[in-house]
Amino acid sequence: MSEVETLIIGAGPAGMAAAMELSKVNKKILIIEKQKSVGGLAKTLTFEEEGATFFSDIGPHRFFSQNKYLYDFIENLIHDKWIKVNRLTRQYIGGKFYDYPINAAQALKNIGMKKAFRIFLDYLFAQIVYKILRKKIKNFKDYVIANFGRSLAELNMINYTEKVWGIECSKIHPDWAKQRIKSLTLISALKSIFTKGKDPRSMVDQFYYPEDGTHLIYKTIEEKIIQKGNEVLTESYPTKIKHDGKLITEVIINTRGKEESFKPKYLVESITMKNFVNLLEPSAPDCVLEAIKTLKYRSQVYLFITLDKESITKDQWIYFPEKEIPFGRVSEMKNFSKKMSPDGKTSLFVEFFCFEGDKTWNMDKESLFELALNHFERLGFFTRKEVRNYYLIKQKNVYPIYDLDYQKNLELIKAYLNKFENLFFIGRPGRFKYNNQDHSLEMGILAARSIIDEKKYDIESVGSEIEYYEKGDLNVSNKQKVSFNWMVLEDRDET
Ligand SMILES: Cc1cc2nc3c(=O)[nH]c(=O)nc-3n(C[C@H](O)[C@H](O)[C@H](O)COP(=O)(O)OP(=O)(O)OC[C@H]3O[C@@H](n4cnc5c(N)ncnc54)[C@H](O)[C@@H]3O)c2cc1C
Repeated sequence: MSEVETLIIGAGPAGMAAAMELSKVNKKILIIEKQKSVGGLAKTLTFEEEGATFFSDIGPHRFFSQNKYLYDFIENLIHDKWIKVNRLTRQYIGGKFYDYPINAAQALKNIGMKKAFRIFLDYLFAQIVYKILRKKIKNFKDYVIANFGRSLAELNMINYTEKVWGIECSKIHPDWAKQRIKSLTLISALKSIFTKGKDPRSMVDQFYYPEDGTHLIYKTIEEKIIQKGNEVLTESYPTKIKHDGKLITEVIINTRGKEESFKPKYLVESITMKNFVNLLEPSAPDCVLEAIKTLKYRSQVYLFITLDKESITKDQWIYFPEKEIPFGRVSEMKNFSKKMSPDGKTSLFVEFFCFEGDKTWNMDKESLFELALNHFERLGFFTRKEVRNYYLIKQKNVYPIYDLDYQKNLELIKAYLNKFENLFFIGRPGRFKYNNQDHSLEMGILAARSIIDEKKYDIESVGSEIEYYEKGDLNVSNKQKVSFNWMVLEDRDET
């Protein structure tokens, strides 16, 4: 059995951030990654074609954070390859495009005065029901109706959410809304239109993007940690995780068919919670095993279409909330960075939401393409003749599903895992939390700082900023708004 100071399982943003932070202070690490390359869901795929190479992330990867530490962390890695992009994103509803974030004048023109008045009346009605009569918010549907009124909620939020999650909004926990659209209401959205650039919630939007694709961050970390004498084992995964009830004592790893045993002083892992718990030996208690069975994920299949065409639109991505359209979002990678497509050509990354094993998941490449092509031709995006090639990509366990029971089951599992003193379970899969890159990076950095400082910082509180917005401009004051909160676990106010 080989001794290793810190074993990191999973080389997505969370695992790689932990690795980087540890290697900066010359701590020894070993990284294990199941796939052939690092980056996790934030990797960039390469498509080599005759005379042309295309690159694509797995869907849009806009970096945004309220944490200045993270901006510095990435800037120190990729320097001037971190480019600023002017955001242009839209939604397609009822045969019309709407700017996203909303442009009031355009939205009014699209929906007409009658419908706008209806939206306003519905909003007032929701205020009476939820604020004055204090109707309880029990699920996501209640949450969006309470904050936006029924008409607006039905126009884009309920449709899109049900498409993404594959379950009715009345069965989705309101946590989902709290994590993603907290503090945003119809009134705050309207207000921000008139305070462009002055408010951190500004709808004037820019974001940073690594010019060679989002994986540049994680590839650079890989290079740096290898330079320091550390190892990254790809196509490698754990087959057994042994423990004595207090500590993780041994991890058996399979790397391309060869088994090896490691005794880690610390284990940092970001693989799916279900996978991790099921590898434990002795087994977790029955109640934990029962709880883990209830955690569900939504998966995705993607079409990546390469085109003999200069450009489709100017948008980085467009949402398609309506259920009649089979895909949910498309991204034109060239509009993130020119380097993603060769000159004179472009591409489209198309996302379909599904459950592993369902009809969409099992569709072959040709059928999926035919299903989508009709819509793209109708929208005027491209014609069959302009298509060079198309590729099918499948990704399991993309979205942890926040159903109405998830919280109590998750708490039970986390309480059990927290008993292991040398274990740090982090990241989107590791904590069953719908993280963006920023929160996974924060979790990795906190795990590393806990090891370096020999005290456990509070990973649970990552993502619970009072104001976390999907939107925001990148003026300096905004970047500096929130600094890293090194909260020690024992100091946390549990009330
Ligand atoms: C379509 C889409 C759009 C997105 N858009 C954005 C965006 O605009 N902005 C943004 O910031 N974020 C975005 N994200 C989210 C971002 O990709 C994730 O937040 C981030 O990748 C999570 O990092 P992680 O390390 O927590 O998990 P992951 O990226 O899931 O990494 C986990 C790693 O563990 C590995 N692994 C799993 N099981 C094992 C095993 N048994 N053994 C060894 N290794 C294993 C995986 O292969 C993977 O490399 C998007 C994600 C998707 C899918």
